[in-house]
Amino acid sequence: MELGQSAGFLGGGSGDYRDPAISPDGAPTTTAQLSDEQRAQHRALVAEWNDKLEGTSAEGIMDWAATHVSGKIAVTMSMQDTILAELAEGRLLNAELVFLDTGYHFDETIETRDKVAERYHLPLTNVRPVLSREEQDETYGPRLYSRNPSACCRMRKVEPLARMLNPYEAWVTGIRRVDNPLRATTPILDVDRTGRLKINPIAAWSDEDVENYITDHKLIINPLTAQGYPSIGCATCTLPVAEGDDPRSGRWAGTNKTECGLHT
Ligand code: SF4
Repeated sequence: MELGQSAGFLGGGSGDYRDPAISPDGAPTTTAQLSDEQRAQHRALVAEWNDKLEGTSAEGIMDWAATHVSGKIAVTMSMQDTILAELAEGRLLNAELVFLDTGYHFDETIETRDKVAERYHLPLTNVRPVLSREEQDETYGPRLYSRNPSACCRMRKVEPLARMLNPYEAWVTGIRRVDNPLRATTPILDVDRTGRLKINPIAAWSDEDVENYITDHKLIINPLTAQGYPSIGCATCTLPVAEGDDPRSGRWAGTNKTECGLHT
């Protein structure tokens, strides 16, 4: 059971709050489907290239994307590090960096985002939820993130990303197979539920690969990564992790939630 679910969805017991299963009015919650033709093209690319790209460097995978994706590409950035921005810069000329600004991030994460905007030439878009934190508290009750983190992630991450993805043909993620067992079989290329191409250029990277790339390219890093936060999400839902523990065990600690829903 996730934190707070036993308390139902009523904030403070007043009974006046909206059911968090119902998203805010006035904004789509899903991404438009691509045409059958585009979906078929992407499936053909995956079938032809997934195995071939398995042993290809992340730079090579980005070069492949530049050649094979003619539409716009969204590069998702958690602002934990800037590996994807570094890989995309100068390679994906039709790309845009995308940051899900939930309103609950650590100050260090926001500062990292601002440094990314200064260092890289690719445009950076802040994707925001329909409701501000205050509006969410008024509508769904205070601390929805602790009472029903799945609903909070859905409204502040999953649905904003879904709206944002509409103009894009493909998106790039920083998912790695070593992140957790759910990600252990992540392919380099995939087709998402809307027919868009999903590109995971560092899927095969180990922790050592990440550290080496950051050092070799003198990347901006979120200072929290050196303060016991190997996996950084919202400040309200991320705890530091003891050395040697599962790096993602600080995310939604004390609940059975392990993913925000962006990749499931
Ligand atoms: S990580 Fe926590 S605060 Fe952030 S969107 Fe998910 S539940 Fe809400």
